[in-house]
Amino acid sequence: MKITEVRVRLVNEKNERLKAFCTMTLDNEFVIRDIKVIEGSQGLFVAMPSRKVTDRCPKCRAKNYVPAKYCNECGERLKGGRFEEAASLGDKLHTDIAHPINKECRARVQEAILAAYRAELQRSRNAAQSPSTEASTAAREAEHESGEDTGDEL
Ligand SMILES: [Zn+2]
Repeated sequence: MKITEVRVRLVNEKNERLKAFCTMTLDNEFVIRDIKVIEGSQGLFVAMPSRKVTDRCPKCRAKNYVPAKYCNECGERLKGGRFEEAASLGDKLHTDIAHPINKECRARVQEAILAAYRAELQRSRNAAQSPSTEASTAAREAEHESGEDTGDEL
């Protein structure tokens, strides 16, 4: 398996642990989306696409995310603390949709994703120093001034 392309979309939020969303192409013919780059306490790591674990509403049997407080379908108040309870029992609250099945592959994927992320970060930093961003800042300020409040009519 060859990783033939990695696309990176940076998340430009200060204090946000989620740093980027990535799309990875394998052998030029298979795409995996929604791979995340996350800043953990031990540094950056790669999270494979995952879905939240669900359980069923006692009233209408609709599926809800385990941390949900109210049923998506009927609005029934769901039992509190299901999230904490599941976590304390060691249940996985997220399950990976696609993932490597051995250490070597995991390391290879992580390396490729983080290399692409760092390259994209560098590109965006270089772009931030170019004069084009000054122009867009000026345009945004001009837009802000024109938004004059005319007041409400009764
Ligand atoms: Zn329900």
